[in-house]
Amino acid sequence: MDKRLQEIEEKVKQRIRLGKEDGVYLYHSDDLLAIGALARAKKIEASQRYVYFNVNRHINLTNICVSRCKFCAFGVDENGTGGPYVMSPEEAFTFGAEAVDYGITEFHVVSALHPSKPFDYYVEVVKRLHEAYPQIHIQGFTAVEIFYFAQISGLSVREVLSTLKEAGLGSMPGGGAEVFNDDIRRELCPRKAMSDDWLQVHQTAHELGIKTNCTMLYGHVESIEDRIHHLMRLRELQDTAPGFQSFIPLPFLPDNTRLSHLGRTSALDDLKTMAISRLMLDNIDHIKAFWIMLGIPLAQIALEFGADDLDGTVIEERIMHSAGASTEKGIDKQAIIELIRESGYTPVERDTLYNVIEIF
Ligand code: SF4
Repeated sequence: MDKRLQEIEEKVKQRIRLGKEDGVYLYHSDDLLAIGALARAKKIEASQRYVYFNVNRHINLTNICVSRCKFCAFGVDENGTGGPYVMSPEEAFTFGAEAVDYGITEFHVVSALHPSKPFDYYVEVVKRLHEAYPQIHIQGFTAVEIFYFAQISGLSVREVLSTLKEAGLGSMPGGGAEVFNDDIRRELCPRKAMSDDWLQVHQTAHELGIKTNCTMLYGHVESIEDRIHHLMRLRELQDTAPGFQSFIPLPFLPDNTRLSHLGRTSALDDLKTMAISRLMLDNIDHIKAFWIMLGIPLAQIALEFGADDLDGTVIEERIMHSAGASTEKGIDKQAIIELIRESGYTPVERDTLYNVIEIF
């Protein structure tokens, strides 16, 4: 281990917060295994040998989107190609209800920015699911969607969140953060929430007692400095308005996007990003290896690089698969238990809020 890496190791051991230069240095270091070992020690400190998963149903209400971000393969035009669809509240309910017998503990509702569906439509979907299945947690709507609902309804972000919470929304996912550099956002996704908007929505949610997750989309046009800056902004918000439960680094999947010339991130970059996220985000308990995007083998290895959560069994995911995710659209509970065991960790089924349901 070189001298600079030893200094960082010392800081980590003494629980001294890593700074921007530390994070950038880690990215430029070739010593992947040393970085992984540091992150693994932090993971064990946070959650011992446990690796969490949950059993959920993704409900993607529509793929019709006014934003058409360059890195997205899911959103399509209303009258264009790519199979535009929108579920009625009834269809969304039936789609969710079909999965209840699988023992799901979460409905995960994330969609595109539909040009004409009113805010009431989303409230109705949440209300119907919640009234029929009050025991199943509803995690729904990225900050980008919440910000959009405020724009189309004329309500404030706080009013939008309060209305959804009253209808049965339990928590929010972490998507739409992309990378907090507004020059990049103006280039890749100019029509949706900018960096401060995204952070403001999460701050408001945390103030209202709504737990959330957070993400970073990496491997497109951002720099290493952008990535570290992004992690530090999340860490700052968690200091001032805590409420993030987990962080999910999302590698950019280029297939069928307008950035398809960029290619995929390397496994080395994915593992390093996982480990550095664990080391920089010293105030977020859980780091998630989202198997849908990483693929199962790499997600298993990521457990040795600081991740302590594999997300869920999912049951039919559409968004990442539009962009070329080659994984199954869902796997069953026994399979996820086995793949955690194979990696030498203890599988723990959790609910959305990280209450332990069963240790396997
Ligand atoms: S990333 Fe979200 S907002 Fe952007 S085009 Fe895709 S679905 Fe729409």
